[in-house]
Amino acid sequence: MVMEKHLLQLLRYKKLSATKARLQVLSLFAKLNQPLSYADIHAYLDGEFDRVTLYRMLDTFVSNGLIRSVPALHKPITYVLLDGVEQLSVSNMFFLNCLHCNRKYILPALVLPNFELPLKFNVSHVDIVIEGKCPDCS
Ligand SMILES: [Zn+2]
Repeated sequence: MVMEKHLLQLLRYKKLSATKARLQVLSLFAKLNQPLSYADIHAYLDGEFDRVTLYRMLDTFVSNGLIRSVPALHKPITYVLLDGVEQLSVSNMFFLNCLHCNRKYILPALVLPNFELPLKFNVSHVDIVIEGKCPDCS
């Protein structure tokens, strides 16, 4: 209930209409709290939406900063919910990626050490992907 209210707020904040379908997909991200691919969402929602509808919805969420893709060299592309109305800009994110089963995990935000970059590069955020084997695959 609290979660649903929060998701409604997020959609309103982004001036997107809170359709049942959008809420359903965002709820899935919020509930599972793990990176999800198109295929994951499709499977969890039991094929409720057709391919085009779901892809379009994910595109809308990405372009409005509600979700973002997880940086990874390996397919499939997965997405995570950018939670919190104030924190809709991209912040530092940390991920674990199992190279065996391809499961991905979101780590709680870690504090980064201060580091100097050689170029005068204006950093907006830092993504760290740690790859290896999850406990199930070790
Ligand atoms: Zn694994």
